Amino acid sequence: MDDQYHFPLETFMSREKFDRIKQFSKDLETPCLILDLDVIKSNYESLRTNLPFAKVFYAVKANPEDEVVALLRDLGSNFDVATRYELDQLLRLGVSPDRMSFGNTIKKEKDIAYFYEKGVRLFVTDSPMDLDKISRAAPGSRVFIRLLTEGLGADWPLSRKFGCHPDLARQLIKMAVRFGLEPYGISFHPGSQQRDVGQWSTALTTVGQLFRWAKEEAGVTLKMINMGGGFPANYVEPTDSIQQYAEDIKRFLDNTFKSEWPEEVIIEPGRSMAGDAGVIVSEIVNIAKKSVHDRYPWVFLDIGKFGGLIETLDEAIKYPLYFEGQGKPVSIIIAGPTCDSMDILYEKWTYTMPEKTKIGERVYILTTGAYTKSYSSIYFNGFPPLASHILK
Ligand SMILES: *Cc1c(COP(=O)(O)O)cnc(C)c1O
Repeated sequence: MDDQYHFPLETFMSREKFDRIKQFSKDLETPCLILDLDVIKSNYESLRTNLPFAKVFYAVKANPEDEVVALLRDLGSNFDVATRYELDQLLRLGVSPDRMSFGNTIKKEKDIAYFYEKGVRLFVTDSPMDLDKISRAAPGSRVFIRLLTEGLGADWPLSRKFGCHPDLARQLIKMAVRFGLEPYGISFHPGSQQRDVGQWSTALTTVGQLFRWAKEEAGVTLKMINMGGGFPANYVEPTDSIQQYAEDIKRFLDNTFKSEWPEEVIIEPGRSMAGDAGVIVSEIVNIAKKSVHDRYPWVFLDIGKFGGLIETLDEAIKYPLYFEGQGKPVSIIIAGPTCDSMDILYEKWTYTMPEKTKIGERVYILTTGAYTKSYSSIYFNGFPPLASHILK
């Protein structure tokens, strides 16, 4: 039956696991997100095994559920924190401040002061004014400088807005010394769901030049390199395995630093840690054509862009959809339930559903553990934020 669809379920999860999720969600109100903590645990362990030299700073924004944070806390992870609200959550869950970095380049001075007061001593920066704020509000702290990347090859680029050009990075290293801060390292984010591992190579080459420049020209020994997130989750378009990414990245580090690797290498995975751990259970609200001659029916789900699937903007992230109905595959347009015409999920990329699919049936949206619930809107059209449940 499965090979009638444009992908087999087994590409993304075992039939056994699917049946467990289906059974677990049988009586739950849709839409809802089911999170499997075992998957997060094994993703964390796989990163640790494949990149044993790297310290993991989980990017909390990807999935900030208490249970996820608590699990990673117990596994020994560190955390990339973006706001004082995330900081408060982590402190409430007993994560010590020496396991956190303030990784947002856009921050108020009073929030920097708050992080400092709570004991955080590791801050990102990418501009003189921000560095100035850090020097006042977090005196003596470690700072790492984020480089601009292009995000080429990434499904969700994170480019332009963050980071600075290497010339400015040099100035910031010198400024940090003048300000009494410790210029600790360099960071970059290659772009989220980065399918071209070569992007790490490009960025690392620049980082290597900065390390050498700092030592020779500024008398500063940088100690840390932070390679950001970017590791993939399993969506419709396939990627290399984590093993392959790890092997390549290790080679790039060897090429750049030879036998003199930096003391500390950090990664900040979000998507690759939580994405595969989630399945959104959704229901078909309507199936309709706009005219009798239309080729493709519109399939309206009870979740859309505002309910947590904002990463379908420009069809950037293509979630695997699993329909259970019978019949040969027919092409469809997929849209959400809100009264906003931008709430269309997929129109250009052709998804299919089994011909006999009916209104009221469930659709399983796979690989939705990252950047879904945390993105869902509060009561637009009265729809509540996306509910989530931990798979038991
Ligand atoms: C969002 C974010 C991450 C996580 O990136 P993924 O591609 O989801 O792994 C890491 N670092 C920073 C600074 C981020 O903003």
